Amino acid sequence: MAVKISEFFVHHRHNTIAFIMLVEILLAVLGATAAWYLWDVLRMDPLFIIFLILGLLLAIQMMLTPLVYRITGHPLKIISQAIAHVSNDPIQTPPPDVNHPKYERSGLKAMVQTIYELAVSSHHEATEAKNDNSGPYRTILNNAPCGIVALNDQGEVVLANPIAPTHETTSSGLELELMFEQSNNLEMWLAQAKDTKVRDTKVWHRIADSIPGEDGRRIFDVVAYYNKNGEQNIEVILITIDRTAEYAPDDDNMDFIALAAHELRGPITVIRGYLDLLDDELKPLLQPDQQVLMDRLQVSAEQLSGYINNILNVSRYDRNHLSLHLHEEHLIDILKSLAPDLALRAKTKKRRLIFRIPTDLPTIAADRSSLSEVINNLIDNGIKYSQDDGEVIITAAVKGNFIEITVQDFGIGIPSAIVGNLFSKFYRSHRSRQQVSGTGLGLYICKAIIESHGGSIWVRSVEGEGSTFGFTMPIYSTVADKLGKDDNGNAQIIERADGWIKNHAMYRR
Ligand code: ADP
Repeated sequence: MAVKISEFFVHHRHNTIAFIMLVEILLAVLGATAAWYLWDVLRMDPLFIIFLILGLLLAIQMMLTPLVYRITGHPLKIISQAIAHVSNDPIQTPPPDVNHPKYERSGLKAMVQTIYELAVSSHHEATEAKNDNSGPYRTILNNAPCGIVALNDQGEVVLANPIAPTHETTSSGLELELMFEQSNNLEMWLAQAKDTKVRDTKVWHRIADSIPGEDGRRIFDVVAYYNKNGEQNIEVILITIDRTAEYAPDDDNMDFIALAAHELRGPITVIRGYLDLLDDELKPLLQPDQQVLMDRLQVSAEQLSGYINNILNVSRYDRNHLSLHLHEEHLIDILKSLAPDLALRAKTKKRRLIFRIPTDLPTIAADRSSLSEVINNLIDNGIKYSQDDGEVIITAAVKGNFIEITVQDFGIGIPSAIVGNLFSKFYRSHRSRQQVSGTGLGLYICKAIIESHGGSIWVRSVEGEGSTFGFTMPIYSTVADKLGKDDNGNAQIIERADGWIKNHAMYRR
C-alpha cells in the first residue's frame, strides 16, 4: 500500500534507520567471523586481532558511507530535482522519473506530484492577480499609449485595451478591426508561423481600421508576437501604434489627386480621340519630321492617360472599390488590341518590342481592361527604363493552372537592395526619380490587379543589365466553375494561395 504524504518522512526515517542498522549488523558479523578465524585458526595474538579488526571495520565503513548515503538520501535528490524543475531557474532541470512502482509504494511519487500541483496553482494565483481588473496590470493596459490585443489559438480576441482597434461582435465578443493588405495579412503570417515556428515577430506599416473617407479612420503600425504554447492559451500579442497624424495627410493628398485625376480623365480622352482623328486625316500630308511630332503628341497623351488611370485605380483599390469582372479571354487578342499603341510608344522612344506568344495558349480568366493596364504598365516601364535600340521581349507560357507572362528589358536594371520596395505605393528608385518621369504607382496597381485575379507578380533584375517582370493569370478552365455563378454574371470569387476570396470588393480583412 502506498505511503501517505503525511507519513512520508516517518516512513523514510524508519527505512533509513533499518537500512543503516542492517549494514552495521552485517559489519559486526563480518568482524566477529574474521576475529574468530584469526584467533581460532591462525592463532594470532588477541590484542593484534582486536586492532586489526577495528581498523578493517573502520576502513570498510568509510568506503560504504557514500553508498549508504546515496541510497538513504535518494528521496531528497528526487524532491530537490522536482522543486528545481518547477522553479524559475534559468538552468532548466529535467523532471525526475518517478514512474517505477517502488516510488509509488514509498510515497515519493505522491510527494513529487504534490510539488507540481502546488507550483501550478501558485502560478495561476500569480496570473490571476495580474488579470485582476483592479490590479496594476489593468491600470497599465488602460493607460498604455498603444493598443494591446491578445488572441488565443483560435485567433479570437481574448483581451484588448480600450484604444486597441477592436469592435464588439453580435455575440458580444471582440473582433480585430484592421484592414491588412490581401497579400500580406495577419492570417497568412500566423498560418505560416504556426506551421514552422515556435516564436515569431512581424511588423506591418500603414494598416487602417476602416476605408478612406470614413469618420474616425485610424492608421496604425502593427507589431505582432507569436508564441506557440503561450500561457493561458494566449498565442498572439498585437501592439498597435496609432500613426494617423503622420499617415493621414498622404491619404488626403491621394484624395485630392484622385479627384483631380477624375476631372482630367474627360479632357484627356477627348484630346486622344482628336489626335487619332488628326493623325488619320493628316497622314498623307505630313512631312516625316512632322509625323514624328505627331507620334510624340499621341504617345504623351496616352502616357498621361495611363498615369490618370493608375491614380484612379489606386484610389479605388485603397477604398476597396476596385472592381474586376473576370471573363474568358484570349491573351493574344488582348495583346493584339494593345499592340498598335505600344508599337508607337516603342518607336517614338527608339525601342524594339518583340512578342513571343504561342498561338495555342489556353484562355485565361481576366478582367480585360485591368489586365491591359498591367501589360501597358510593364511594357511602358521596359521602354522607359532601357536605352535607345533596346529590346523589350514579351513572352507567355503555361505554368500549372496559370499562364505566366513576362516582360524583359535590357536597360538600367534595379539594385537588389530596393527590389523589395518596388511594388509599394509611390515608390520610385532614386535614379529613376532624377531621370525618368513617373508616379511610382504603376507596379503597386499591377500587383493589386494581379493578386485580385488570384495570380502573383515577381521581378528579377540585375543592375546595369536589365529586368524581367513576370506575372501569372489563372487559366479559365481551372476556375470556370467558380465564375459566372453570381446573379449579374460577373465573376466575383477567385482562388488565391490562401483560400477563396471575393474579388469584387477587394476583400482585405
Ligand atoms: P513609375 O515608373 O511611374 O515610377 P512604377 O510603379 O511603374 O512607377 O515603378 C516603380 C519604380 O520601379 C520605378 O520608378 C523604377 O525605379 C523601378 N522600375 C520599374 N520598372 C523598371 C524596369 N523595367 N527597369 C528598371 N527599373 C524599373
